[in-house]
Order: sequence, then structure tokens, then C-alpha cells
Amino acid sequence: MTTLLTFAPALAHTQPGHPENHTRLAGMVETLEKMGVLAGVTAVAPQTATTEQLQRVHDLRLIEHIRRVSQRGGGLLDHGDTYATADSYELARLAAGACCQAVDKIMTGEAERGFALVRPPGHHAEFSRVSGFCLINNIAVAARQARVVHGVRRVLIVDFDVHHGNGTQDIFYEDDTVLFASLHLFAPFFYPGVGSLQESGLEKGEGYTLNVPLPPYVGDVGYNLFFQELIVPAARQFRPDLILVSAGFDAHWQDPLAVAGLSLTGYGQIAQTLVQLADELCEGRILFVLEGGYKLDVLTLGIANVFQALNGRDQIFDPIGPMPQTEQKVTDLLEGLKQRHLRN
Ligand code: ZN
Repeated sequence: MTTLLTFAPALAHTQPGHPENHTRLAGMVETLEKMGVLAGVTAVAPQTATTEQLQRVHDLRLIEHIRRVSQRGGGLLDHGDTYATADSYELARLAAGACCQAVDKIMTGEAERGFALVRPPGHHAEFSRVSGFCLINNIAVAARQARVVHGVRRVLIVDFDVHHGNGTQDIFYEDDTVLFASLHLFAPFFYPGVGSLQESGLEKGEGYTLNVPLPPYVGDVGYNLFFQELIVPAARQFRPDLILVSAGFDAHWQDPLAVAGLSLTGYGQIAQTLVQLADELCEGRILFVLEGGYKLDVLTLGIANVFQALNGRDQIFDPIGPMPQTEQKVTDLLEGLKQRHLRN
């Protein structure tokens, strides 16, 4: 029953005034230790991903683009707000490598489950395009590591970051060995603007992309309904050998970038549900990988609650409480998605 932690905070990948900056993870482990949530957790020092590992999910030209921008001292990597510093190329490789290593430990039984606290985040990085603060798609690299090195047949990726995981969807869109399930805010002008329920995979990947495009202010009750009545049954249908989780904490109601309405309690319950699902379906094998989350106290407490779930402790930290707004009803969306994705 070992839970592992791999920590790659990328302190030199930072930009003043940018929401995705080094303060998100600086001092995180010390804080978690003080909270007592790391008792029984084994820390693993991260290792850099090889180019071969990165090329399993990315065009070599994209990898070289990040290297060149870093080598010349940094700058913008796209036409939006995805930046690199002189150190970002190496740090992005370290984040992806940390996730691969965690998969190695879980698949060989050295650890049962874990959390990769890494930056820069990854789920917006597509096969040949960086986007949304993401350079290398860490969770996609981890999923391919499980498949290529450990012969895993089926990987479930659950993405509960408030933004759609367009990069992960892009990489696995024609792949029937990865079920990609993303719950995200889907509203006009909200980033990245894809992730509709009609996007469900292509060719042999048809049916292996499960998008839950949520209206604003869904809140704890709505999210829980989607997990219990859609994500959990879809996972049982798929029978994964490993569960990977794109864990973003920007669906919290106080996050400055979104209005999804989850509380820390809601997040904690989702983490418990996913850990139980891994126990039921794949001998407990689950790895959480950090994505977004831009309000620092929420981020810290959200991460602490995931460790509580990983360690089988029921207590959830929530000094902030629930969203003050009324929760949005989601029954029609849920029923439509059940009809689309669940066999009776
Ligand atoms: Zn996000």
C-alpha cells in the first residue's frame, strides 16, 4: 500500500504576472508535510524524459521548437500566452519524465498509486502544437509509457481540470486503447473552445473520447452525478488496467479563471470516487497528474485532499465552503451523455 509523490515544481519556469508561475508549487511539499497528509507517502526524485518518450506523443518539430526558444533565452511559444524561459525545455522534460517514472513504479508494483506534482502543466499540448500554458503533454507521455514499456492494454484518463484537455484528446483521438473522459466548462469564449459532446473520437477511436461539456455553476451535486452515473459506469465498461487523472483545481468556485462551482469538498469526493474505482477495476493503480489551479490556497488544499483519498483517509479539508450561487441543473445533459456512451 505505498503512495508515491514525485515533485517537479519547475521554479525557473515562471513569468511575473502570469497565472501559471512558480508560486503554484514553491514550498508545496513543506506545506503538505506540515498538514500531515504525506505520512506514509514515498517521495521519488524525478528523472528527465528521453526524446523517445516525448516522441511517442509529440511531433519532433514541436520538441525542437521548445528547445530552440529555450536555448535563445526564452519567449512566447505560440501566439497566445504559452511562454518558455531559458530553463523551460529541460523542466518540461523533467515533468514528463517524472510522470513516466511514476507509471514505472506503479506498474512494477513498487508503489500502488501516486500523485505527480509537476509543472509546466500538459493537457492542452497537442501532437504538434503547444497551447494553454502547456508545453509537453505529461499525462499522454505517461499513458504511452504504460502501453509501450509495460504492455498495458487499456488506460483510462479522467480530466477534471475546468478547461477541456484538447491536447490529450488530440493525441488519443483515433486510439481505442485510451478512454479519455473530460469534464469541463463549455461556454462561449471560454478556453479552449473545443470539447463538445459530438467530439467522441475517430476511426477505431470512435467512442473512446467522452466529453462532458458543462454549463457554468454546476457545483458539487452536478459533478457528483456525472461521476456516479456516467464516468464510473463508462469506466466499468472500458475495464482499464491503469487510471490516470488530469487533476486541475481551477473548477473551484473561487478560481479566478472559471465559474464551474466545485468546492474543496466536491473535489475531495471526486478524488475518493476515482481511488475507489481504481481499487475496483485495476488493483488500485492510479496516478494523479497536476494540471491547472490558480488560487493558491485552493490548490494546496485540493492537492492535500487528493493525498487524503490516496491514503484512504476520509477527512476532507474545506475551510472555504460551498459556492454561494445556486447550482445549475444538468439532468438533460447527463441523460443525453448516458444514451450516447453507456450500453444498457
Ligand atoms: Zn485549467
